Amino acid sequence: MIRIRKKFILGFILAVGLLVTRDFFYEVPIITYHQIKDVCPKDSLLCVTEKSFKKQMEFIFRYNYKVISPEELYLSLIRKKPIPKRAVLISFDDGTDDFYKYAFKTLKEYKFPAVVFIICDYINKEGYLHQKELKEIRNYNITIGSHTRTHRYLGDTYDEAILQEEIYGSKKILEEILGEKIYFLAYPLGGYNDKVKTIVKDAGYRLAFTTNRAGYKRNPDIFALRRIKMTEDSDNFFVLWPKLSGLYNLLRKG
Ligand SMILES: [Zn+2]
Repeated sequence: MIRIRKKFILGFILAVGLLVTRDFFYEVPIITYHQIKDVCPKDSLLCVTEKSFKKQMEFIFRYNYKVISPEELYLSLIRKKPIPKRAVLISFDDGTDDFYKYAFKTLKEYKFPAVVFIICDYINKEGYLHQKELKEIRNYNITIGSHTRTHRYLGDTYDEAILQEEIYGSKKILEEILGEKIYFLAYPLGGYNDKVKTIVKDAGYRLAFTTNRAGYKRNPDIFALRRIKMTEDSDNFFVLWPKLSGLYNLLRKG
């Protein structure tokens, strides 16, 4: 009898402990995609097939995750709005035209918001989104963000003129095309330094996203938000669930 009670108390403490630490370590999962294609090149780490992408979106829908926009993430991070339960932000880098061909339709179907980070100098070029498409996807709760002008790695860039062009310049180009303010930026290849971050803040961005570069911190740096890369094999429960749990960053090194 005593033994059973001990086990029960121990189990109870463990369960409470898990619940408490879960909330303590939780951060909204921000998932990233690059290319979505009907067929992916062999061994490509940046490509997810349309088929897997659909399965991943279906999982998010079926298990009642709350897909949020970057604006909602911003408001919750500055504590103006509570973070919805089971929140997830979906992001896409590079603005290639396969977003329009293979991802947009599924997002529309589920009415999921998302953010697409555009390399401004590639707009209207072959293989990339055109101005017309940017305007169209914007009408379906797809937020447009900057991925700089040229996709230059900024981690080792300190030249003021270059940084101004990449950070302010790209914002201006997108604002002129869309007729609205641009508030979000993703660093090409996740690279940034303190100077880059300062210019991003001064330019009026509200959030900036990296890759998996920043280690876990109790209060996330809103100008270096960690993201979780989605891969072709992320279409089963055992890979997807940890990625969407809000605790995934604890498992990774900075
Ligand atoms: Zn990129």
